[in-house]
Amino acid sequence: MITPNKVAAMAEKKEKENYAFRTFLKNHADPEKLDAQFLRLHNELFSQYDCSSCRNCCKEFCGTFENEDITKGAAKLHMTPETFKAQYLQYDGEGAYDTNHTPCDFLQGDGSCLLGECKPVNCAEFPFTAKPDRLLSMISIIGNASVCPVLFEILERLKGEYGFEFRSNARW
Ligand code: SF4
Ligand code: SF4
Repeated sequence: MITPNKVAAMAEKKEKENYAFRTFLKNHADPEKLDAQFLRLHNELFSQYDCSSCRNCCKEFCGTFENEDITKGAAKLHMTPETFKAQYLQYDGEGAYDTNHTPCDFLQGDGSCLLGECKPVNCAEFPFTAKPDRLLSMISIIGNASVCPVLFEILERLKGEYGFEFRSNARW
């Protein structure tokens, strides 16, 4: 597995290859089989990985909170939702709220999240590799592979499973 501090540079080197792989998948992959492959690799790799030693996602992105996330997060910190929003969040203009800073304000020095199990659903699901419709989300998957070493590894394993080898002049 690539180390968290090297994933951005490696993903940049692999950018053309990853977009070629996206085209390959669009032309050759069965969407449901691909979702099952993502899910299997997600379960296998995350079960062996300690995210607290990485936290690139919490350093690169702010947390995004829907209303239910605000209710849970406020309760965790023994605040009203209004105080929680005023202290930690700003409206994103699209119906949700983001934390005020990047790295996220809830990221602790030991790599844990101050909100624990009450972290937003969006955070708990990142990098979204256990969700369906991955073929439609390949652009954001490739983008997130520059942040998440596990997702980077999932893409590399998928290339192996499909026998995909990058050639810059090939048509996929
Ligand atoms: S989800 Fe990915 S980016 Fe976030 S901490 Fe875990 S390995 Fe790192
Ligand atoms: S809310 Fe927690 S899990 Fe989400 S970005 Fe912030 S520190 Fe990370």
